[in-house]
Amino acid sequence: VEDNDADMSPVRWIRINPFRCQGKVDDVLKELRKKFPKQVDDWTQIVPGSIYRDEYIPNLYGVHPSDKITSHELYKRGKIIIQDRASCFPAYILNPTPHDVVIDACSAPGNKTTHIAAHIFPDGNASDVKIYAFERDAKRAEILEKMVTSAGCESCIQISVGDFTQLAKPQMFKDVTGFILDPSCSGSGIFGRQSVDLANKSKLAEKVPNEVFEEQDPKEMEQNELYKTRLAKLSSFQFQIVKHAMSFPNAKKLVYSTCSIHAEENERVVIDLLLDQNIKQYGWKVAKRDSVIPAWQRRGILSEFEEVFPHEQAQELADGCIRALPKEDGGIGFFAVCFERE
Ligand code: SAM
Repeated sequence: VEDNDADMSPVRWIRINPFRCQGKVDDVLKELRKKFPKQVDDWTQIVPGSIYRDEYIPNLYGVHPSDKITSHELYKRGKIIIQDRASCFPAYILNPTPHDVVIDACSAPGNKTTHIAAHIFPDGNASDVKIYAFERDAKRAEILEKMVTSAGCESCIQISVGDFTQLAKPQMFKDVTGFILDPSCSGSGIFGRQSVDLANKSKLAEKVPNEVFEEQDPKEMEQNELYKTRLAKLSSFQFQIVKHAMSFPNAKKLVYSTCSIHAEENERVVIDLLLDQNIKQYGWKVAKRDSVIPAWQRRGILSEFEEVFPHEQAQELADGCIRALPKEDGGIGFFAVCFERE
């Protein structure tokens, strides 16, 4: 993370890393307070020099984007990690304990991987391997390795370079109880990317109805057609990643997330998974709101589920999902849903 993209985000989110302070997060907090003496009660009140303790994610703090944090000793020593708030939701929702073994199927650069480790070992003493991290791209896997090492949790994470759906055979991972599934997506929730610009321009914010492509010049229409095709390819790939994870024999909990604002990559993927006849045998259900950050107000898009399910069921499914809007909710646009089974 570079400070020069700071002006894009309304808040710079920082997470205290237990592995570089032997679990003494209060010591790190004391240091942080020296740099940020003014405490505010809401992220919208953050000004330079102030700090906000997040009300949803433990050990997560927000500071003003203009406060250069990457030159601070705490950052250089890996005691704090810059990670967007919404990106912290998956590991928090999964909430693994030392009894769990987790696969992070699409893991580079490793923000969520190191966050899962922090949940399993809150005292910062990583012992045996508890996380299997897969990453298809060799270059990105190098970044992942660097991040895991600089966070100090390498002893509990085993990295494999390759395609998760090909490398990870369910019968070889009978000990795995949980999954983080954060596959490649359009990135339409991230500021400054071409996709979010295109998405906004085309009013594609939630879905891609055909009407929005009317009355556009041919070049723009061609661009939109390409974008629609890309979304279709992405959602089918995202479906395959989750489907594969759902076939692991002893997995009990699985969190799927994207940094996309499009229903095609979010609610629609959930619906396709719920309707798939082969997946039904595995017995997965969407976890209810009360176990998925219930206080977070922005939930899944009800109308998407209502197209397929009766109102009450649709409401329950939408409530089970979490959405964050870019900037308006204090960071990147995001989607998360949790599947559970007995
Ligand atoms: N979870 C990461 C984090 O929080 O830092 C971000 C993951 S990024 C959205 C998606 C990653 O999945 C990319 O690095 C991509 O190369 C990787 N990927 C895509 N398809 C994959 C596959 N089939 N198996 C393993 N990794 C894959």
